[in-house]
Amino acid sequence: MSLAAKLRARIAQSGPMSVADYMGECLLDPEHGYYTTRDPFGAAGDFTTAPEISQMFGELVGLCLAQGWMDQGSPAAIVLAELGPGRGTLMADILRATRGVPGFHDALRVVLVEASEALRTRQQATLAGYGVTWADRLEDVPPGPIFLVANEFFDALPVRQFQRDDGAWRERQVGLADDALTFGLGGPVSLTALDRFAEARDGDLVELRPAGEAVMAEIDARIAASGGAALIIDYGDWHSLGDTLQAVAKHDTADPLADPGEADLTSHVDFEALAQAAPRLTHSRLTPQGVFLERLGITARAQALARRLEGEPLSRHVAAHRRLTHPDEMGTLFKILAFVPEGAPMLPGLET
Ligand code: SAH
Repeated sequence: MSLAAKLRARIAQSGPMSVADYMGECLLDPEHGYYTTRDPFGAAGDFTTAPEISQMFGELVGLCLAQGWMDQGSPAAIVLAELGPGRGTLMADILRATRGVPGFHDALRVVLVEASEALRTRQQATLAGYGVTWADRLEDVPPGPIFLVANEFFDALPVRQFQRDDGAWRERQVGLADDALTFGLGGPVSLTALDRFAEARDGDLVELRPAGEAVMAEIDARIAASGGAALIIDYGDWHSLGDTLQAVAKHDTADPLADPGEADLTSHVDFEALAQAAPRLTHSRLTPQGVFLERLGITARAQALARRLEGEPLSRHVAAHRRLTHPDEMGTLFKILAFVPEGAPMLPGLET
């Protein structure tokens, strides 16, 4: 049975489902889920991410985390963790770029938090030789200081959507009309998590990401207890407003309900909600990706790499630099929010 048929049968039997439940099923259904069944990245896939665009991204992120480790006294044993590592490219670039940082590789143990078996296999191939291990959830990662990176992870966690309607909030749901999946609104609900949106007017839609806040609360507990840092990179804004659920397939936007499990479903990250879920840590200012990478020296690195290139590879390299940093490309839409223990220096490239 296709995922669409399975979801229709479920709704026919138990009634409409929340957008979050729908998103969760589409992305991670064990049999048909988007991530469970494929490697969606790269030119031939559905979308490209920053680490897949250029090695410079992972190199600079790696040096940023290694500097954070040194700034906290170079603890002798740490976990270097990545949430949602995709093809493993970012971690491979981080590890290669930090080989020369004295003591860093001896101190670290790499743990990848990945839900998809297909992508774990891919990560294993990319990272052979580094002794990486996998965890289903951050809770299963060994305790101790943790330096963590998550690129385009939070946007893939399910969101609940609520619409303001006649002075009350109603949850947006996926139901059936003439046996086709369709959006609708549930009955009035009252949730304290919606109090942040007191300024909302009738017709406004807001998104809550309970799974993202839970991950952030776990990061908060770990870093507050044992030290470390978290670097969260994603698209979104400080305080998001509006329907940002989007489906992407073959590098183009699609209808989120049209083909469940066949398109990537994401929504913008509400960084304020993440910061509020980590009250014991100091967070950076929300910083555009272009600014962050420039401060870390991407232009110098790009020039050094360019010296070895010519022709088509050189044009691709120049385009990749632009794509990562330019305001019209990923430079402004993507943002960085970092977390360190209270009193610790902020990671380089960012400010409090
Ligand atoms: N960071 C990578 C991939 C981003 S795509 C890159 O930048 O290229 C999202 C990643 O998160 C995929 O690896 C996906 O399988 C994983 N993922 C999605 N939901 C997850 C969950 N609930 N738990 C763990 N991993 C998850």
